[in-house]
Amino acid sequence: MATRLSASAIPHVVPPRIERFLAEEDPPTPCLVIDLDVVEERYRALVAALPAADVHYAVKANPSPGVLARLAALGSRFDVASPAEISLCLAAGVDPSRISYGNTIKKRRDIAFAHEAGVHMFAVDSEEELGKVAAAAPGATVLVRVLVSGEGADWPLSRKFGCEPDMAVDLLVQAGTLGLDPAGVSFHVGSQQMEPRRWDPALERAAAVLRQAHAAGVPISLVNIGGGFPASYSADVPHIEHYGRAIGAALHRHLQGLPVRVLCEPGRYVAGDAGVLRAKVVLVSRKAYGDEHRWVYLDVGRFGGLAETEGEAIRYQLVTSVDGGPLGPVILAGPTCDSVDVLYERTRYQLPLTLSEGDTIDILAAGAYTAAYASAGFNGFGPMPVHELA
Ligand SMILES: *Cc1c(COP(=O)(O)O)cnc(C)c1O
Repeated sequence: MATRLSASAIPHVVPPRIERFLAEEDPPTPCLVIDLDVVEERYRALVAALPAADVHYAVKANPSPGVLARLAALGSRFDVASPAEISLCLAAGVDPSRISYGNTIKKRRDIAFAHEAGVHMFAVDSEEELGKVAAAAPGATVLVRVLVSGEGADWPLSRKFGCEPDMAVDLLVQAGTLGLDPAGVSFHVGSQQMEPRRWDPALERAAAVLRQAHAAGVPISLVNIGGGFPASYSADVPHIEHYGRAIGAALHRHLQGLPVRVLCEPGRYVAGDAGVLRAKVVLVSRKAYGDEHRWVYLDVGRFGGLAETEGEAIRYQLVTSVDGGPLGPVILAGPTCDSVDVLYERTRYQLPLTLSEGDTIDILAAGAYTAAYASAGFNGFGPMPVHELA
């Protein structure tokens, strides 16, 4: 089923401060421009929608120093997946007690690094990983991640993380016997989760683990509801208030009367809408005389940061410097000599017929999972600069 995404079908705009920066500075492309005020606005909106939850920003979505510093100043906590992300948080002035290590796949030496840095909370989903945490971070707090469905998500996290609830209960019990502090349960319903109701069955699973752990003598009280809150790639993305209400109702339904502390780990929602990726057209061509489709090659592609165009899963809105005239169908591709460096072929993008070499294309809501994904220099195209507007 092809969605029609044209330069005018869905209302969308470049955030005004970013627009001004781009007009005044005309920076070399590709580049990512982040409006830190939008980061702040999203953080505040999330806190308002989920007042009961501690926010641990998922650093991987956008680890830029300004993003971390702004969130730290607002009182955010942080979720990391590596020593380098811990160092970034510490450099932004974050107290290590406010950092959680949510990756369930950690090298023993990385666990030790975190432990020495003062990070106390670790997620696990296997006996093997639990053993590593017990050895390298004695006495640490552990959360056990349960498998939940990723249905409804545009970028599901599949079965890579989490374990079944009965195993989760065993791991919590075992954590206690290993001298660790078994604190709770975590899950992630999939990234760019378009359906607020998907937290309900996940919380039902988490509540079952919590009850069974209590029955087994392990009184856990933390429920980590993960990330998944969406960025505005399209007009049909539900408002954050809908997520807040659905999750609030599910917490009430499944955990009523239990003394729980809730924690969430937003990444995409906080950073996505705050960024615009400015690119330029390198070439517009056709493969045959009379071909309706034009190929539009940009100076950024799959390897330059647009990794989530894989499977055309994430479909960004585009604004060109020549919007306004008649449109025609295009296939969008990146600049490298690799055939997977095609962004959209099945999704029917429409761009102005006058589009040509040197025109700019602004890729909207590109603040999350873009610059950080860029390859070190495939084909000689290095990572793009990130401009942060304080
Ligand atoms: C990536 C990740 C997140 C953030 O997910 P979003 O969909 O960007 O909100 C949260 N928690 C963990 C453990 C993650 O790996």
